[in-house]
Amino acid sequence: MSKFYIYLFNFIIGSIIGSHLLVVVQRFETENFISSTSHCDSCKIPLTLLNQIPIFSFIKYKGHCFFCKTTIPIETFYCELLGGIAFLPLNPYTDQFSYLLVTFIFLISIFDYFDQSFPLSTILPLIWIITFSSPKLSYDFIEWMLIIIVISVFLLMNLKNKLGLGDTLIFIILIFYYNFYIAQYIFLIASIFLFLLYVINHEKRPLPFIPFIFLSITFYNFV
Ligand SMILES: [Zn+2]
Repeated sequence: MSKFYIYLFNFIIGSIIGSHLLVVVQRFETENFISSTSHCDSCKIPLTLLNQIPIFSFIKYKGHCFFCKTTIPIETFYCELLGGIAFLPLNPYTDQFSYLLVTFIFLISIFDYFDQSFPLSTILPLIWIITFSSPKLSYDFIEWMLIIIVISVFLLMNLKNKLGLGDTLIFIILIFYYNFYIAQYIFLIASIFLFLLYVINHEKRPLPFIPFIFLSITFYNFV
C-alpha cells in the first residue's frame, strides 16, 4: 500500500472509531452500546448508512439530526476529527499495538473530558496491551531509583489532589509501553499543551489531564 492509502485508511478507521468511542462513553451505564443500533438520541430513529459517515455527515447536515433536526453536540465532530488525526501517523505493518493503545487512551480521554474521571475497567485493555507488546524494562539501578522517585512524586501529588490517580496509572502504563523517557516526554508535552490552554483561554477551572496526554501521544506519533 502506498503512503497515501495508509494515511487514508488510518484517517477513515480513526474517525469511525472516534465516533463510536463517544457513543460508548455516552451510553456506558444506560444502554447496551455494543448491540444497539446507531440512533439519534433525541428522536431515536435509527441512522441510515449515509447519516453515519464520520465528519462528512456532520458537515452535510450542519450538525443537526437528519430526521428531527435536533442539534448534534459539537463533541461528535471533534471526536471524529481527532480520531482520524490520531490514527494518521500509525503504521499498520510494523506497529499494530499502537492502534489499540491510541484507541483506549482516547476512550479514557473522552470519559475524563466529560466526567473528570474514568471507569477503572477501561485500564484493563491497556494492561493487556502492555503485557503483549513486550515491555522494555532494561534499566540500570540508578534509572530504577529515578523511576521510583518520579512515581512517588506523582502519588504524593495524588494525595494532595494536585493530580488524579488516573493520570499516574496512565504514566505507569506509558513507561511499560514506550519507556521511562518517552513517558516523561509525553507528560511534558501534555503539560505544555495544558499550560498553553490556560494562557490562551484564561481558564480558571481545573481541566482533565488525560485528553492532553492523548493529544501529546498523537504529537509524539507524528514527530
Ligand atoms: Zn433525531
